[in-house]
Amino acid sequence: MNLVIGLSGSIFLNMEDTFRGYKRAYVNNDYVESIVRAGAIPMILPVSLEIKNFKSYAKAMIDKVDALVLTGGQDVNPYLYNEEPALELGEIFEERDLFDIELYKAAIEAKKPVFGVCRGLQLINVIEGGSLYQDLSYADFVKIKHSQNDHPTRTIHYIDFEENTFFSKVYDKKYKVNSFHHQIIKDLAKDFKICAKSADGVIEAFECINDEKFVIGVQYHPEMNSCVDIKSQKLFNEFIKEVENRKMK
Ligand code: MN
Repeated sequence: MNLVIGLSGSIFLNMEDTFRGYKRAYVNNDYVESIVRAGAIPMILPVSLEIKNFKSYAKAMIDKVDALVLTGGQDVNPYLYNEEPALELGEIFEERDLFDIELYKAAIEAKKPVFGVCRGLQLINVIEGGSLYQDLSYADFVKIKHSQNDHPTRTIHYIDFEENTFFSKVYDKKYKVNSFHHQIIKDLAKDFKICAKSADGVIEAFECINDEKFVIGVQYHPEMNSCVDIKSQKLFNEFIKEVENRKMK
């Protein structure tokens, strides 16, 4: 089956050569390859700086795909969870927040599975009524380094998985993951269950407990080491299997 998986896109500013200062629509290529290795067809969904209301734009894109991956990137705008920007807030991208929110809503409406990575997990949590710590320094329980100064295919800290979750198809109790985040979940959204935590208690994976929708999220980056780590790739494989099963129903 040719399943098509939408990957939420971002924009980067090219700083080299003739096209210095040019904006480019993109996703990190490792999302593309993780989906390809899982046997599905990736499709990059570009954000636009021209559009003010993304509702019909996002819905038209979701109509063309079987599932959505909300990719990593900038911090979520804290006004979306009713906080003023704190001193340690990082870069935000308002159009991208608005676009991703409409992609998520359209996917849920169409009963299509969603997989959030890093910013993706954080944004899902906010859309579903939860909140974030704008920086790790605001959470006094954080004791572990969650932003590694090392190649993304390497790992830095362990996480502990709960039993009987979607992630149990892939992981045993304990697993070492990479980490590139400075924000974390504060209040967990109501319909969601913690599936993994780091030793200091940071939420590293969750799933939706409402059977009406299939939504999972991870705070680490399986797409960045799926080229060398069997379980990271298996997570994508199992996600694609779930997309297929739900499409057959
Ligand atoms: Mn982490």
